[in-house]
Amino acid sequence: VFINEGKDTPLCAVKEIEKSGETYWTPQQKESEVFSEDTAYIMNRMLREVVTDGTGISAQVTGLDVCGKTGTSEYGDHWFVGMIPGNVCAVWYKSDKDMDAETADAARICKGVFEKIGADASEQYSIPTGVKEEVYCKKSGLLAGEQCQETGIGYYKEGTFSKLCEECR
Ligand SMILES: [Zn+2]
Repeated sequence: VFINEGKDTPLCAVKEIEKSGETYWTPQQKESEVFSEDTAYIMNRMLREVVTDGTGISAQVTGLDVCGKTGTSEYGDHWFVGMIPGNVCAVWYKSDKDMDAETADAARICKGVFEKIGADASEQYSIPTGVKEEVYCKKSGLLAGEQCQETGIGYYKEGTFSKLCEECR
C-alpha cells in the first residue's frame, strides 16, 4: 500500500487456469483503498529515510528509490521489507547461532534482489497534489526559518503545516 497510492490488492499465487486451451479462471483481484494517496506518499517518504539515513541503509541501490523497514527479535530474527516503484521484497532471516551484523543483514539481501531484477531506475513516485514538500527545523520540528541550522525535508498534507520555527536564534 505504501507504493500503490494507499490501495491494497489481495495477493494471489495463481495468475490463470486454462481448460482446453481457453481461460477457465482468473483471480478477481479487487483493489480497496486502505488510506489516502496523500498518507501513503508521506509514509513512503518516511520509509525512504530508513534507507537513506537509518537502520536499512545497506539496502541502498544507486539510482533506485528504495524505501523500507527493518525489524529484529531477541530470538535471532531479522526482517527487512524493501520497496521500489512496482516491486516489494520481504526478507526474513533467522539464525540460532550468533552471527555478525553483516551476515544477518536482511536489508543487504534485499539490495541484492533489487539489483538482480534489473528494476527501471527511471520509475519514480509522484507527489500527490494534496502533499507539499517543505524544509523543517530538526531542533523544533517546525518549519525552518533562515536561522535554523539543522534541517530536513518534511512532507505535509494541505492544512497541516506547522508554524515557523522561532526557537533558533
Ligand atoms: Zn529552528
